[in-house]
Amino acid sequence: MKVLSFAVFVLALMVIVGWLFDIEQLKSIMPKYVSMKFNTALCFILMSISLTIEAFRLRKFIFISIIINAFVAVFSLLTYSQEIFGYNLHIDQFFIIDEVGIQAKEAFPGRMSPITVFLFSMLSISLILDKCIKRKYLFILQYIYHIVTLMAIIAIIGYIYNAPEFYTLSFLTSMAVHTAIGFLLLSVGTALIHPSLGVTGILIGNSVGNSVARKLFSQICIAIMAFTYIRYLTHKYNIVDIEFGIALLTISFLIISLVIIWEAADKLNKKDEKKKLAEEHFRLVVESAPNALIMSDSKGTITLVNKQAEIMFGYEREELIGKKIELLVPNKFTPNHDKNRVSYHASPKAKYFGAGRDLYAVRSTGEEFPVEIGLNPIRKEDGKIAVLASIIDITERKKQEAIIRKQVIELKLKNQEMEQFNYIASHDLQEPLRTVSNYIMLLNEDYEEELNADIKMHLVTMDDAIKRMSLLVRSLLDFGRLGRDKKLVKSDCGKIAENVLKDLSNLICETNAKVKIEGQLPLTNVYEIEFRQLLQNLINNAIKFRKADVPAEIVIGCTSTASQHEFYVTDNGIGIKEKYADKIFQIFQRLNKNTEYEGHGIGLANCRKIAEMHGGKIWVESIPGEGSTFKFTILNLKDESTIKLHHAS
Ligand code: ADP
Repeated sequence: MKVLSFAVFVLALMVIVGWLFDIEQLKSIMPKYVSMKFNTALCFILMSISLTIEAFRLRKFIFISIIINAFVAVFSLLTYSQEIFGYNLHIDQFFIIDEVGIQAKEAFPGRMSPITVFLFSMLSISLILDKCIKRKYLFILQYIYHIVTLMAIIAIIGYIYNAPEFYTLSFLTSMAVHTAIGFLLLSVGTALIHPSLGVTGILIGNSVGNSVARKLFSQICIAIMAFTYIRYLTHKYNIVDIEFGIALLTISFLIISLVIIWEAADKLNKKDEKKKLAEEHFRLVVESAPNALIMSDSKGTITLVNKQAEIMFGYEREELIGKKIELLVPNKFTPNHDKNRVSYHASPKAKYFGAGRDLYAVRSTGEEFPVEIGLNPIRKEDGKIAVLASIIDITERKKQEAIIRKQVIELKLKNQEMEQFNYIASHDLQEPLRTVSNYIMLLNEDYEEELNADIKMHLVTMDDAIKRMSLLVRSLLDFGRLGRDKKLVKSDCGKIAENVLKDLSNLICETNAKVKIEGQLPLTNVYEIEFRQLLQNLINNAIKFRKADVPAEIVIGCTSTASQHEFYVTDNGIGIKEKYADKIFQIFQRLNKNTEYEGHGIGLANCRKIAEMHGGKIWVESIPGEGSTFKFTILNLKDESTIKLHHAS
């Protein structure tokens, strides 16, 4: 459309320039042809502007387009009325004096030919109506544009074959050849405003029919024009007899028509084969699908079922085809199903039913079973919509869900018991320990003189043991509470590590330890407090389990992938034997005596819990006597659901 309107504009502009500067070639193309009148060129310019507005869909300027078309319509009707009623409104030479027309002694110099005026009025009035009539009547306008195209083609053919009757069409003044070309371009352009209507609808589009029509039409046009033109030339220059010429023309037509039809038929046949193949594929896919598939029409009549559907519902294929789909729906849902089907067909789109909704189907035995159903509309050859239902029997899944629900309840109860135990441990167990400790103190104070050295030593051992037990109970409590109020926040792990080192600065100074953070630690979502505790435990252990008289050298770093971060804490300490590599992450497991290295054996158990909290794991790689590398991963967490998903998988 844009190209066509531009071409019309350029054509008309050339003629206007021809008129303004009196260049004969621009006015009439060839000396023997009539010239395009100035008014005609002006109307073409205006209409090309209107077509440009349509082509660019400039909604804001539609009113300009309407004004232009109204002007052209009035102008051409006035010119036509002069012709009919014989008066002179002096509009023919209003803009420019038609010297050529005056010299040629034309009756009305400068006046547009009646056929030109007629075509302009048809086009401009149709373009105005295009904006005001109902959609369903637009096709009438489309045929008017086609009539203009046809008339322009007739005139052009008249010029090609030198048959003036064609382009004068019984009117007195003839239509200029470039006027005809202008109308051809303009009318094709306007027909493209609604490309799906009329002949344009057949020639434009991606369907087989459209492409075959395009090809056939263009080939036939070229063939006819070429042959008839050759025939015209042979006749004009008397090369062959008229009878022989016509016979030759007929034979050529027959042969070329056969070739063109052959090619078109071959193309259609290939498409048909492809379609049959696609149908066969569809049938195979349906048949081999793991789900039960049932196709039904808008009335709910079953038209296709696959093997799985036969197995699931316990019917033979023949027993289902032609029956109502409601046969497979439990009686109590049938009335609703009917309504749902009607509303589905009113706006058919892919839909999935099941999750969060209890849907049931019924087998041939009358047994009802839970299902999930996916519906897909399929457009059939006749344009009607069929529905392909994919059905999954979820009886087993429902059973499993019930079991999981039961287990979740049991787990909740167990958790409650654990919490209860924690409470007892914190209050009730600490209390008797404190009492025993108090009594040891009383014995020491009140019976100091009566107690001999042996008893005093036993009392000190007892007191140590009780204090130790109290510490263990507290650690156990902390372990249980770990992550209870956890909060996922975007954190700079490098900053967290630096803060941990600041907290441990006294210990680092005292022991002369060297700690290095290698590279950049990531910025990611972590449970900040717990993550910090994890790093602190590992660095603390790396310092604690150093070799005697060898200052600890510790390196902290991280390698990241799209899905996770892998941290490492390497030391040059005493190392761990491979057989203990798993054991140390269990609660209260220690490899060294309390006298050598202090501790309760809970630190690494906490670390494991924290890594798992982040969807990751923790392990150690070590050479005894040379050092250890503790590694742990954390998922690249977007939110809490990522961890849940990870745990579920
Ligand atoms: P604790 O440090 O209180 O003993 P942990 O759970 O932190 O408890 O550690 C468990 C055991 O793992 C330690 O007793 C120690 O034997 C061993 N271990 C931990 N970290 C290191 C390390 N960096 N080098 C050598 N052994 C270690």
